[in-house]
Amino acid sequence: MPSLDALRASVLSTRGGAVDDSIPQLADADPELFGVAVVHPDGEMAASGDADHLFSIQSAVKPFLFALALADTGGEALDQVGIEPTGEAFDALKLESHTGRPPNPMVNAGALLTANLVDGDSGDARSRRITAGLSAFAGRDLDVDREISESEQLHGDRNHALAHLMRSEGTLDQTADEAVAVYARACSVMVDATALAVMGATLAFGGRNPVTGEQVVSVAIARDVVSVMATCGVYDGSGRWMRAVGVPAKSSVSGAIVLSAPNRLGAAIVSPPLDELGTSVRGEALSRVLSDEYGLHSFGFPGRPSRSAEAETEVGVGVDRT
Ligand code: GLU
Repeated sequence: MPSLDALRASVLSTRGGAVDDSIPQLADADPELFGVAVVHPDGEMAASGDADHLFSIQSAVKPFLFALALADTGGEALDQVGIEPTGEAFDALKLESHTGRPPNPMVNAGALLTANLVDGDSGDARSRRITAGLSAFAGRDLDVDREISESEQLHGDRNHALAHLMRSEGTLDQTADEAVAVYARACSVMVDATALAVMGATLAFGGRNPVTGEQVVSVAIARDVVSVMATCGVYDGSGRWMRAVGVPAKSSVSGAIVLSAPNRLGAAIVSPPLDELGTSVRGEALSRVLSDEYGLHSFGFPGRPSRSAEAETEVGVGVDRT
């Protein structure tokens, strides 16, 4: 098995994409930043490149907000948010037409709601609970970057619109401003690839953090969350992702991707340039490589060649398509 350095180096020629510019702090990201970390079942970690560079977690927080909401509501969050893929942009101003619920927890409407379903009798209390919960997933103390969260609130017009829409449907209890503030602070928690990889691993290993040994959420919750990552985690490219990479994951506008391969490993990659659907270009390329090298594809066939038909064609292996 090649080293993680060699696997990372194998995709350095992959270029393209553009850094997100929704807030100035994201627009300033270094496009050459490229880090990866992998966490194995015994908590052992491998890292390569800029794996200790801090960035805002952005949408990669959504699986963990869903997990905390499920934990704090005793599973009732599942009555309040759908679990179906949308085929729409992550910030589409749309709710389920027959219920008024957000379509799933991996789009903004859903995450605005799940962030506000966690325990706490005020916005600040919910944010403290979220930061503590994320820290338990990561196995270390994480913090919110206040400048980024204020910028998110200032520029998050669609999030304000979504919160008002949910209030008009009776789906959201809090004021729109308070709900957006809690969500914006959650998106502005600072992580590096090593912290995010441990978070992904905690879901991959049934809610138990493999580094600290803490059972952060139940096995049932981890299974629910990883299932929704598999169907809805990579924006509007979740089908393409599942075919090519085959590992439940969540991507984000900071160029981070968190991967949870059940019982196998957790991983995180950061590389800011994004494709047209919002997923890190190099992040996806390296995810494909990791999936192939470690045999992680959910629908692969152990012991038999498991690269996608497309990859086999690329490397010149004959594929009989008849
Ligand atoms: N802060 C971003 C927003 O809600 C997160 C977007 C993302 O990473 O997809 O607009």
